[in-house]
Amino acid sequence: MESINDFIKNVKNDEIDIVEHTYKLIEECKEINKEYNYFNTISEELALSQAKEIKKQLKNNDKNIKNKKLLGVAISVKDNICVKDVETTAGSKILQGYKPLFDAHVMQKVKEEGGIIIGKTSQDEFGFGGFSVNVGVGFKVPKNPFDEERSCGGSSGGAAGLSQKLSNHIALGESTGGSIVEPASFCGVFGLCPTYGRVSRYGLIDFANSLDKIGSIGKNIEDVALLMDVISGYDKNDSTSLNVKAENYESYVKKPIKGMKIGIIKEAFGSGVEREIEKNVYNGIEDLEEEGAKAEEISLELPIKYGIATYYMIATSEASTNLAKFCGMRYGAVEKLEGSFNEYFTRVRSSNFGDEAKRRIILGTFARMTGYREAFYLKAMKVRTLMINEYKKAFRKFDALVSPTASILPPKFEDIEKLTPLQHYMIDVMTVSPNVAGLPHLNVPVGFEKNLPIGMLLIADHLQEGKLIQLGSAIEKGK
Ligand code: GLN
Repeated sequence: MESINDFIKNVKNDEIDIVEHTYKLIEECKEINKEYNYFNTISEELALSQAKEIKKQLKNNDKNIKNKKLLGVAISVKDNICVKDVETTAGSKILQGYKPLFDAHVMQKVKEEGGIIIGKTSQDEFGFGGFSVNVGVGFKVPKNPFDEERSCGGSSGGAAGLSQKLSNHIALGESTGGSIVEPASFCGVFGLCPTYGRVSRYGLIDFANSLDKIGSIGKNIEDVALLMDVISGYDKNDSTSLNVKAENYESYVKKPIKGMKIGIIKEAFGSGVEREIEKNVYNGIEDLEEEGAKAEEISLELPIKYGIATYYMIATSEASTNLAKFCGMRYGAVEKLEGSFNEYFTRVRSSNFGDEAKRRIILGTFARMTGYREAFYLKAMKVRTLMINEYKKAFRKFDALVSPTASILPPKFEDIEKLTPLQHYMIDVMTVSPNVAGLPHLNVPVGFEKNLPIGMLLIADHLQEGKLIQLGSAIEKGK
């Protein structure tokens, strides 16, 4: 398969007519969407106007045009990231019709580097879910690219599914508790969730401010690294953005891994994990060893045991605060003003939020209430600190930690319907803790079982995304 870097070269050398290519690609997206529901919106007009502009600049031989890192590359955008003049809903009916007047920081970067925005991908409402079935009222559920009766994972389900189906494309995803790596695993693609603060959240519709991260999803590790190069970096508009030196993530692709140390998280294997998944993840570890890495087991007590409880306390507390602004007056859907304020707010929120959003508002509000705050929210924050310390200790010895990304194969929709909310939450047992600790993590496809993909999760210390790319690339090479 042609790599995206080859594609970019061809665009620059005028071997591809970018307008024609983009036109065809949009038609392909429409076809894919009919069957798989990966888009909430296809931004045809924007994509074609960008392509025409690129063509014009190439023809005029404009200064800098040939230095653009994403020239002509199709970029899809999770629907909770604001794109100027393109409907942005975060998968919620309450935001239907909202066209931002500005671009998110990552979108400014993508546009500056010549990326072509093809549309907004489907997701769980506001990111509330792990199967992309909690879509907002009136939205469609994306289907797994390998079996349409199964889930894509979530909440960046549309982004991951599309990454598998569409070539010459990279996706922008977002993760709060696992929403980049888990769908990437279910769809057999790479997904990199960076260190908290590495990529600006300016223009991202908040789920939980202390957890949200924008990252990249793609078919090859090189593509994922390329998009990360473009979007990472300091932004004065985001007070949590890290002011650290830029990295060249692409330089880690194919970099030898000899001597690197991998910690196999003991608690992440064994009971509760499907046998085939374990087997394939161990094959991936063997690939790393063959390339010269050293792997050994490590026991980490907190992440698997307390991750889910800690994460859901923090995430729902922050989500319930964030959703308060959607009250029918300041943001989102508006209805006829009738009755008292309370009646009005209740009516707007009842008809425009889905069930899971309502559940999280109730849970989070409860956890923050006087009297419960100490027992729940503040306790979760303390466990978060303990967890960070435990990880930090492990990273004194290891370059990366490894576990399966998901403990089950992508499930069928009919089976998901039977799950309780708590069982839904458990799908993220492997992924919530690195998110709680703000650590970078990567899904690497390691094999197939029953024609369904299996992913390995690699976690590194803060700002060590490069090591993840290096290791992911070593496994990709072995495939
Ligand atoms: N599945 C988790 C949740 O429902 C994580 C989702 C996410 O990362 N946005 O909160």
